[in-house]
Amino acid sequence: MSDNKRDGEVNFNQPEYTTPNHILDRFPVAPRSIWSKVEDKDWNNWIWQQQQRVRNIEMLSKVINVTEEEKQAYDGSVEMFNMSITPYYASLMDADDPNCPIRMQAVPKLGELHISPEDLEDPLAEERDMPVPGLTHRYPDRVLFYTTHNCAMYCRFCTRKRKVSDPGSAAQKKQLDDALEYIRTHKEIRDVVISGGDPLSNSDDRLDYILTSLRAMPHIEIFRMGTRNLVTLPQRITDDFIYMLRKHHPVFVNTHYNHPKECTREAYDACRRLSDAGVVISNQMVLLKGINDDPKIVKELNHKLLMMRVRPYYIYQCDLSQGISHFRTPIEKGLEIIENLRGWTSGLAVPHLVIDAPGGGGKIPILPQYFLGKTGKTVKLRNYKKKEFTYVEPQE
Ligand code: SF4
Repeated sequence: MSDNKRDGEVNFNQPEYTTPNHILDRFPVAPRSIWSKVEDKDWNNWIWQQQQRVRNIEMLSKVINVTEEEKQAYDGSVEMFNMSITPYYASLMDADDPNCPIRMQAVPKLGELHISPEDLEDPLAEERDMPVPGLTHRYPDRVLFYTTHNCAMYCRFCTRKRKVSDPGSAAQKKQLDDALEYIRTHKEIRDVVISGGDPLSNSDDRLDYILTSLRAMPHIEIFRMGTRNLVTLPQRITDDFIYMLRKHHPVFVNTHYNHPKECTREAYDACRRLSDAGVVISNQMVLLKGINDDPKIVKELNHKLLMMRVRPYYIYQCDLSQGISHFRTPIEKGLEIIENLRGWTSGLAVPHLVIDAPGGGGKIPILPQYFLGKTGKTVKLRNYKKKEFTYVEPQE
């Protein structure tokens, strides 16, 4: 037991527990593809995974059978938004199916070259609400803190394409310190969302510096870290990282699984390590045409996430970012998905469907209509099977 353990805290060196095989069996180990001869010590090393990323069409052609459309899309998009895929994530791609849900998230498509009239460079107006560079302060008690513009993988549907993947726009130390100073002098802020890019692209030391600085501010209650590394680079969740993170509790992690194929044994292990260290993990899925716009897929994903101790939190309607309109779905699709979850499966598996309103309006929830009206004190409702019920309010 450590000397500084306080009442009610659990010792980190708890007895090991075993996950039943019938649960583990649902999480297949990544197939490794062309990297089958790579030694475990390299494959499981996040630095090696980053160094070996698939960044050009020649390398990509060794992993999958690249189509003519994908070649053209790569040539047309690479100047604007890099391609970068970790070997781990690349090994999950179907080599022969251009519509594989993993491949569609990682490999450019021609749709990226099309800018629709409604597309916006900064759809969420994040730059407008920046009191200092790299910090968005829109809501009264919380801020969004951009700490890097690098990511392990560049998701083709990224809403921050305007900055992400451009190494020249990454936050320097002075920018970080200016943002920290802003937070220090704004006592109304209690919640800091640490974002990017992917904040886990920072070194442990840099993250420790940021978190230690924030923890020294008595008005800061919680941190949320928004990372896709649990999906694209689960090897990043090392012992050192976990020991660093748990010094700064309470810490929440929001991640970004979009398809059940992403729920591998490696992903399971990474989530388990974080959860065991006391981190609460939630998932923010983006609704993507051809990838997860199907209630069965979302239900399967959410069931897997719960087994990984990840709470399905949001389904985002795809933003109006430039060059991602080919991923967008009609609003009815999201409503259909919620309609097929609510009541048909555990409430824990039902996330909030939201639109992050263009122009900086914030997240607006969208719900199927369960409230049918009210006469006097009598409320008319319908349930998930579309059967109608009444509820009577108190007379006073
Ligand atoms: S990890 Fe997040 S910030 Fe990075 S490319 Fe993917 S969606 Fe964009």
